[in-house]
Order: sequence, then structure tokens, then C-alpha cells
Amino acid sequence: MIYLDNNATTKVDEKVLEAMLPFLKEEYANPSSMYDFAKKPATAIKEARAQVRDFLGAENEKDIFFTSCGSESANTAIKGVLNCNKEKRHIITTKVEHPCVINTYKELEKNGYEVDYIGVNSQGQLDIEDLKSKLRKDTALVSVMWANNETGVIYPVEEIAEIIKTKSPETRFFVDAVQAAGKIPINVKDTKIDLLGISGHKFHAPKGVGVLYVKPDVRITPLINGGHQERGLRAGTQNVPYIVGIGKAAELAQSALDYELKEVKRLRDRLEDGILKNVFNARLNTAISGRVPNTTNIGFEYVEGELILLHLSDIGVCASSGSACTSGSLEPSHVLRAMGIPFTALHGSIRFSLSRFTTEKEVDFVIEQMPAIMDKLASISPFQDELEKLRNLRK
Ligand code: PLP
Repeated sequence: MIYLDNNATTKVDEKVLEAMLPFLKEEYANPSSMYDFAKKPATAIKEARAQVRDFLGAENEKDIFFTSCGSESANTAIKGVLNCNKEKRHIITTKVEHPCVINTYKELEKNGYEVDYIGVNSQGQLDIEDLKSKLRKDTALVSVMWANNETGVIYPVEEIAEIIKTKSPETRFFVDAVQAAGKIPINVKDTKIDLLGISGHKFHAPKGVGVLYVKPDVRITPLINGGHQERGLRAGTQNVPYIVGIGKAAELAQSALDYELKEVKRLRDRLEDGILKNVFNARLNTAISGRVPNTTNIGFEYVEGELILLHLSDIGVCASSGSACTSGSLEPSHVLRAMGIPFTALHGSIRFSLSRFTTEKEVDFVIEQMPAIMDKLASISPFQDELEKLRNLRK
């Protein structure tokens, strides 16, 4: 099996699992209890918080809150900020956010909020001038993802934070950094970002644990009320093994960052170049630069993405079309539509996302197999004339 769908989820690193196991077996005490048996789990949470603090470059452990996933982090940030600023009813976001952000805003619109969705150009880059012009005195919140899950395009969130704080200092800024964590450096201390969310299962921790960073002077309300865990911001007995897991994964991701930026990028580029050169109807859906190092999104013109995925699956290759949350529906990706990707490639766009566990042999296997898959699919496509033209053009 060749796993090239690491933006959907990643495998748990053995070292992460090792760190978690004692807390699934012997050390099962509730970390909030008073007896000695609870000390190890409580200390382990403290340690994990410090690991995540260092990973995100936060000033203080107190700024780190453990959640159950990236979606919970985003929902807590968005609803928590708005609850504390009830008089402000305007929000700015982008057209290419993950469904956990977009769908939260769609719901808020039904409750009377006014939301501006900023567009992107054909390469997926954000219209910053438009964002600037939409900022108002009553803008409660701006949210922009750090990196896009489908295309890997990086958004200049540090620059956007500066713009927001210069023009409207009271406006809060939330960054969904789920696809940036472990792929590019994150250092919130040097930025004016107010809130930032990440998710463990995207960087080799298990599914079911996330983090929300909240800058010290930012007030938010909890999404889940109950006990005083996570300083009252997120009730529920803390999931010690998973918190330990995300802490360890953060530490490992930090030390693997150079490898990610150089070696994973080299393999991604090799895969991308190989496919673009050898497959006659392939086109890169983004610019070459300004992307996280592990992701490529390639459009295969005049063929159906689902068919490509099934043929890849038959030879043991896992990739995806659109995000895991939207695949299964035949609607073309909202991200690629926002970019204005031509209709001819929209339905045949595939995301390959690598990890530090991807090998050159795996990449070369995919490069070798793609032309035959595409020839087969092209032969059953109803667009024979168009495909013939493309073939001649690329000769
Ligand atoms: N944000 C982005 C950019 C994502 O890619 C994802 C997951 O695909 C999420 C948020 C949601 O994360 P989770 O699956 O942990 O809820």
C-alpha cells in the first residue's frame, strides 16, 4: 500500500504510540484527582502542554488548550470570540476554508451575522486588498487558514494579522493551522495572531485530539461547559493518552521540520514533475511556489477524478479528490471552483499528499503507473476529440 493522502490523516508515529501506551494501560488515573496515582497523568499533561507551546512558539503553556480535533478548535475559537463581542456582527473569511470553518459561518449567517468571503486567484492566492477593504469597525472576527488542505497553498497570515491590527485593533484573528502544523514553521509569538487551531492526526498523533492556542489578552467563552478542565475553557475529563500523543507528535514534528522542508519537498516535486512530464492531460492546479512541501494538486483533463482514485486504489495507491470531508459527494471541490479551475480539469483533480514516511520508491511507482491509468481512462472518456487535441499539443 502506498499512502499519499496525508492531508486527510497520517499514520501514528511508533514513538508517539510508545509514549501513549502507559497512559492507556497502567497510568489510567483521572489527572484532576488528588491522590498520588494521579500525579503522573497530571505531569504528563503539563509536559505535553510545554511541548505544544514550543511547537507553536507560544509564550506560555497557559495559552495552549487541548481539544478533541481541529473542527472543535475552530468552532471554539469562532463562537467563543463572537460570544464575547455580541455587539459586533461582521466577519471576514475566505472562500477556500475547510468545511469546519465555512459551515460554521454559514450557520452564523442564518443567525444574523454578516460574513464576507474573500476570493482567490487562479493559483489559489488570496486577494489581500479585498480583505483590507472589507475590514470595518464592527468586524468581530477575521479567519484565514494558514495552508489549504486541498492545494497546499500557504496564506500570508502573519502579514494579514498586521493589516488587521493596524486597521482595526479590536478585531480578533483566528488561523486554522491544521495543514500548516509540521509542514512549515509556526511561531505565534512573533505574530499578531489571536487564536490558532491544529489537529493531532495531521502530524502523526492519533485522531481525536487537537489544540487551540489563545493569546493571553483574548477573551473567549467555552464551547463545552462543565468542569474546570483546561482552565474552564474546555470541560471534560482530559484525554491523557491522546494529549501525551499530540505532545510527543509536536516534539517529533518540530525536529523533523527540516526534513519536511527539504526531503519531503524533493519527493513531492519529483512526483509532480514525473506526472506532469509523463501524463499528457495533466496540469498543475496551483503555482509552483508558496505551497506546503508535501502537497500537490494535479488536474487530469477530461477524465473523472473518482475513476482515477479507483484505479489508483486497485494498484494500492491512496490519494484523494477534494477534502476527505467532501469526497463521497460528486460536487466539485469548493476550493478549486473558487480558483476558477477550468471545467475540463475540475472533475479530474487529484491531491497527492506525502509525509516523512513516504519513500522515493513509492513515488517512482506512482510516476510509472500513472500514464497507463490515464491512457485507459482517456479511452473511455466521452471527450475523444478534445483528448486527441491535447495529445497532439503535448507531443
Ligand atoms: N482544517 C483543515 C484545514 C483541515 O484540513 C481539517 C481536516 O481535514 C480540519 C480543519 C478539521 O480537522 P479535524 O479532522 O481534526 O476536525
